Amino acid sequence: MKKMNVESFNLDHTKVKAPYIRLVGVTEGVNGDKVYKYDIRFKQPNKEHMEMAGLHSIEHLMAENIRNHMDNVLDISPMGCQTGFYLSIINNDSYDEVLVTLEKTLQDVLAANEVPACNEVQCGWAANHSLEGAKEIAKEMLARKDEWKEVF
Ligand SMILES: [Zn+2]
Repeated sequence: MKKMNVESFNLDHTKVKAPYIRLVGVTEGVNGDKVYKYDIRFKQPNKEHMEMAGLHSIEHLMAENIRNHMDNVLDISPMGCQTGFYLSIINNDSYDEVLVTLEKTLQDVLAANEVPACNEVQCGWAANHSLEGAKEIAKEMLARKDEWKEVF
């Protein structure tokens, strides 16, 4: 296959075993700052996916809560295929800290009583949320924590 610009387009999605957390790559800026990009795969590609409302709510919950557990989160955002999230972190090379941070963040999802910023002022599709759906996704991901380090 032709080598693509996007790293994950060169990954054989039929060979991976979700769930997993994979360091995709490290990008260094001109001043030496480093951005670590991770692929947090919740669902097995082409076999299962997260339903949109639950995915949208877990996106809001993780985006808000992950920053309570780690200072240098640049972004956490959903994949269009609805099977996972991208996570970008600045100047922290600790894979183990990512594992612990994700675990704490998913525990926050289970403990949540509401979805943050779930209104028309703060969100682009406020009607499309499911706290219960988000909790189901978090619960299943946490139950398979032992598998997070293994990509294949
Ligand atoms: Zn939203």
